[in-house]
Amino acid sequence: MNAPEVRCEQGQRQVFCGLSGIVWLHRKIQDAFFLVVGSRTCAHLLQSAAGVMIFAEPRFATAILEERDLAGLADCNQELDRVVAEVLERRPDIKALFLVGSCPSEVIKLDLGKAAERLSEVYRGRVRVLDYSASGLETAFTQGEDACLQSLLPELPTRPAGERSLLVVGTLPDVVEDQFKRLFTDLGIAPVEFLPPRHATQYPAVGTSTLLLAAQPFVGETVRTLQRRGATLITAPYPFGIEGTRAWLRAATQAWGIPAERLEAVTAPVIARAEKALARQRERLAGKRICFLPDSQLEIPLARFLQRECGMELIEVATPFLDRQLMEAELLLLPSDLPLTEGQDLERQLERVRAARPDLTVCGLGLANPLEAEGLRTKWSIELVFTPIHGFDQAADLAELFARPLVRGALLKV
Ligand code: SF4
Repeated sequence: MNAPEVRCEQGQRQVFCGLSGIVWLHRKIQDAFFLVVGSRTCAHLLQSAAGVMIFAEPRFATAILEERDLAGLADCNQELDRVVAEVLERRPDIKALFLVGSCPSEVIKLDLGKAAERLSEVYRGRVRVLDYSASGLETAFTQGEDACLQSLLPELPTRPAGERSLLVVGTLPDVVEDQFKRLFTDLGIAPVEFLPPRHATQYPAVGTSTLLLAAQPFVGETVRTLQRRGATLITAPYPFGIEGTRAWLRAATQAWGIPAERLEAVTAPVIARAEKALARQRERLAGKRICFLPDSQLEIPLARFLQRECGMELIEVATPFLDRQLMEAELLLLPSDLPLTEGQDLERQLERVRAARPDLTVCGLGLANPLEAEGLRTKWSIELVFTPIHGFDQAADLAELFARPLVRGALLKV
């Protein structure tokens, strides 16, 4: 099948910035702390993105740049050193500290790379201090993860040539990571490691015999940096839904030289279970019309799942950036006449949504309420990044995330 043509749009955009990635990254790397060097706006964004997490003991905070800092009247580096000392005294369990750059820290040209080097020296042997930028209104919120993972890459040891390994790239919830680990073991693929790791002291080794399997479509720069270290990318669709997960595992087994019969034997029971659970959700979704606005970079693989496995009709799929290298296998699974948009011109896009009046629109938090007020049902795209949705066992849960607003809408109508 031919891939659909891509229409590029530019104009006003409405997306979260990369700081949102901290919410899932701090849950994943259990001994890391994320210190945002930013303004009160950054602190508010983090708190609203994190929702209930503010009631837990979080491993993220914002070092607030006050007006004096922004006017260049204070020594920001001294302030930063003081805040870092406080954090590390309070949290002796922390093994990696990320200094996260924001728009304000970039405006005043605060060199967080140098600060991270200096602080790494001060806390040598106890805490590794790293830095990355999550700033910008021009970036999608999932790009924060790509930037974070890139800052980790220099820490990864080198695996000797000829020592084969599989590295899964992109954050997966622990429960999903464990399911995949079991499947890889049953398939005879080992060693398998995951990036980011659960602990900042357990970095996976990478070398010329490392095979890369992307679990998230928004880790393109990380993958390309690993390729420059000699690793090889396995091209595959993403493990969303039964079809996507089977194709993802098939690509790994083919690269490893494992016969197709073994894949079938290992996956048959879990696929049978997943098909039964998914059938219930398919009844609710089949024939419904859906539109994706650009936000999470998950739009393309999720649209493929909803169209091919749940019978939904795709009205338009828009993505903030199209990384052709990481989307190669996915694009071929979309209908060739699909309206596929890269980028955003907000007003024009909203006009198309209003004209089409789809049953469901997947969009960012800021657009959901106005669209709901116009009688359109919406789904928050950020929820898709916080919820376990990968793999066979989550296929029905993923479909249910889209079915829920439709069911609620139908009840409200009654
Ligand atoms: Fe902070 Fe910039 Fe993100 Fe706003 S867009 S929250 S100023 S980093």
